[in-house]
Amino acid sequence: MTSNPTTPPRPFDVTTVFPQLAPLARTATRLHPRPGLPSPQDSSIGGPLLWPADEPWPHCDGPHVWDQHNPAPSPDDVRLQRRITEDAVRRADGNPASLRYTPEELADYQRARAGRPWPDGPIPLLPVAQIHLRDVPSLRPPGPADLLQVLWCPFDHPALPRTAVLWRTAASVTDVLTTPPEPSVIQSADYLPQPCLLSPEVVTEYPHSEDLEHEVRRQMETCRTWQVAAEPDEWDEDELTPEDVYNSSLSVAPGWKIGGWTRWGLTDPHPRLCGACGAQMDSLLTIASSEWGETSKSWIPHEDRDVSASSLNPYPEQPTMVQIADGNNLHLYACPASLEHPHLVLIQ
Ligand SMILES: [Zn+2]
Ligand SMILES: [Zn+2]
Repeated sequence: MTSNPTTPPRPFDVTTVFPQLAPLARTATRLHPRPGLPSPQDSSIGGPLLWPADEPWPHCDGPHVWDQHNPAPSPDDVRLQRRITEDAVRRADGNPASLRYTPEELADYQRARAGRPWPDGPIPLLPVAQIHLRDVPSLRPPGPADLLQVLWCPFDHPALPRTAVLWRTAASVTDVLTTPPEPSVIQSADYLPQPCLLSPEVVTEYPHSEDLEHEVRRQMETCRTWQVAAEPDEWDEDELTPEDVYNSSLSVAPGWKIGGWTRWGLTDPHPRLCGACGAQMDSLLTIASSEWGETSKSWIPHEDRDVSASSLNPYPEQPTMVQIADGNNLHLYACPASLEHPHLVLIQ
């Protein structure tokens, strides 16, 4: 990456047509993860954490939803498979048709796919994200904490994925744990984030249409000024409604991010109230299955618009290789009153 990813400007400022949206503007920080070699001192996805050597590593006791029919790979099996794919893609030099594996790679790949015995006992959590306040000032944790760490259990649970959210003061970690425990196997490669460095970028978001009052949504469907402003030709081509255009291009950014609004899709908006004090919770971290998709192409950073297929990552829109429930996002919410209050998790 030679320059930081930059989101193109929105097609137009939606508040010029709907001034009532202006007070609802929120800052989101797109993290723009890109594969790299983060150190424990870096902000990262899937990277080593700045973890005190004398602090116990978190584990999950389940219960887990075992799927004995699907082989469970070890983290190193997944890393090997990804490395083999990267090497083959690099050799193919941008032409998917000439993608070939060597016999040795094929044998290694098959061995890595064979799976391993399911584990007994508590499962060590995997690092998901580490964000320094210095890189994302909008984190704004109360108190002296300046480092957010998120881990998760790499197995399915009866309900939502099990995540751990920790805050600490980076300067207080002087003796760093160098070899954290790792699960012997993980349920799926989807749970192992590819180590990525971050290029945070602040953007402005407006609520997803499902979070807007009925009257505003009604105006969106009928306001002529708005329809002219929002390029009606494009709508006709793709048979999009004005609300679709608002949701895809003008409101909520896709991808991994801190803060901002939630892109609803699986369900209607869900109340996000703190289980400890009842406060309205803030969006903390969005863990995304992809950085952009069919309905959010306008958010593709300038620098990624002509990523060649010879890139080391064959899927430029999936730099972290994480998949949440078939292409959805995992949203983590935090209580603004106290870091001690439990966080909330939703899939959308
Ligand atoms: Zn678990
Ligand atoms: Zn609370």
